[in-house]
Amino acid sequence: MQKINTIGVLTSGGDAPGMNAAIRAVVRTGKYYGMKVMGIRKGYEGLIHGDIFEMTARDVSDIMHRGGTVLQTARSKDFKEIEGVRRGISTARYFEIEGIVVIGGDGSFRGARDLCSEGMPAVAIPATIDNDIACTEYTIGFDTAINTAKDAVDKIRDTASSHERCNIIKVMGRASGNIALNVGIATGAEAVLIPEMEVDFERDIVEPINAGHKRDKKHYIIIIAEGVSGCNDLDKRIEEHLGIETRTTILGYIQRGGSPTVMDRVYASQMGSYAVELLKDGVNNRIIGIRDSKIYEIDIFEGLNIPSTFREDLVSLSKILSI
Ligand code: ADP
Repeated sequence: MQKINTIGVLTSGGDAPGMNAAIRAVVRTGKYYGMKVMGIRKGYEGLIHGDIFEMTARDVSDIMHRGGTVLQTARSKDFKEIEGVRRGISTARYFEIEGIVVIGGDGSFRGARDLCSEGMPAVAIPATIDNDIACTEYTIGFDTAINTAKDAVDKIRDTASSHERCNIIKVMGRASGNIALNVGIATGAEAVLIPEMEVDFERDIVEPINAGHKRDKKHYIIIIAEGVSGCNDLDKRIEEHLGIETRTTILGYIQRGGSPTVMDRVYASQMGSYAVELLKDGVNNRIIGIRDSKIYEIDIFEGLNIPSTFREDLVSLSKILSI
């Protein structure tokens, strides 16, 4: 087996807390095995345009506790075309890069798949706050995001309980209800609305609020994922139908930032290190993930073809516990 001397690392797509811990693990594991490690800025854009520099073990000191990504991230239209992928590979070869660690979401994984198909070894690490990649139980950034949202909802609940009021809190998740479901259960929400399930105003909102009212509830929390359609005027409808003062809070980008939790730092460290070990051992074309709570790897093509599911068990649990 030919020894790999130089690897590259990039972050791509949406940023997620914990990406820095993954970069640090890639750089330090690479150095541990005597490799040269090249940082690629701004994802596939930087790969195409040669925004590439050598990273030392000290370059990744003091970054683990920071949100975002020191390598910056970007979306690259050009990389979706085969020409862009080929240009990226020829730039990588110019910098003598023999394998690339891609840290990002499933869009970024498709880019990594194309790198492999065109002859550049790549290993992908899942990092997205949505935890919406089917081939892994966990994606870096999720724990930090749900804890940030949980803290915000707890604070809103404090003020809600001082009045008889309904608070609607919109959390991130365009296509995935994972953040909403977990935050809803963790904060004892009366209702959780997710993009994977059609919303029925009577069944999902009116009934739980009326049931809570009969059981002497004083306030109501509704968690809604941003991707749920047709719910823009939910606060007005609740006020009109139920006569309860209703406020909406959109949590927005605060969910993407902040210092990563221990869980995110540890998974990111494990996955970053494992990615380098795979490349070192000549294994590529892999997504690293978590299965049965353990690190594992899967072929990128196979991993991308696994259909998405959602946690129906958590939907039921949230309903049972909100009575
Ligand atoms: P994420 O990785 O967070 O899902 P995106 O879906 O925006 O974010 O993807 C990030 C980048 O990955 C895109 O800007 C593009 O360069 C690359 N990418 C996305 N989809 C594909 C694809 N189908 N083929 C090749 N590259 C892709």
